[in-house]
Amino acid sequence: MKCPQCEAYMNDCTPICSGCGFNITEFDKVLQIPTERTGLIMDWAEAISSEGLDRINTRLQSFCETTDMDYCLVTVSTSAPRSPREFVYWLFNRWQIGGENHLGVLVLLAMNERRIEVEVGHNLEKYISDDEAGGVLEHHAVPFLKKGDIDNGLYHSLDMLGKIIEHGVAEEKQNEKAN
Ligand SMILES: [Zn+2]
Repeated sequence: MKCPQCEAYMNDCTPICSGCGFNITEFDKVLQIPTERTGLIMDWAEAISSEGLDRINTRLQSFCETTDMDYCLVTVSTSAPRSPREFVYWLFNRWQIGGENHLGVLVLLAMNERRIEVEVGHNLEKYISDDEAGGVLEHHAVPFLKKGDIDNGLYHSLDMLGKIIEHGVAEEKQNEKAN
């Protein structure tokens, strides 16, 4: 994300801005230290139906088993007083999604802001960049979300993101074998 003070680029490995010294702990003062993570989906906004939760959870689980990585989905009523982009970045860091190597993906749906955001772990950017991942959400989630179909918007966009990363991992394994 861009530093909220000076617009310099910050990734999930640099929670302190190299440009102006902005520190992510500034967010702790306005955002409550997040509740413990309880699984792959934290539907805090209660935006997803129970069938939707099952279907998405099965997909995320299969991603985690195939790739040995982490995949997490959060819905909130609002990300206020920070922007959804800042909120997802903060939560990714606070939960250490994907462990020390940042091998994970966090998707955030902020209901009041009508925004869906994604943070892709630094070490996954060889498979998909933050910007590309944002494009996938734009393309595969937003059309459903605009119609109020949250279940399908989340399922299809998370499925597509998962497929792109799974494909990258499989290709890498193939290349390792070939060498
Ligand atoms: Zn800065």
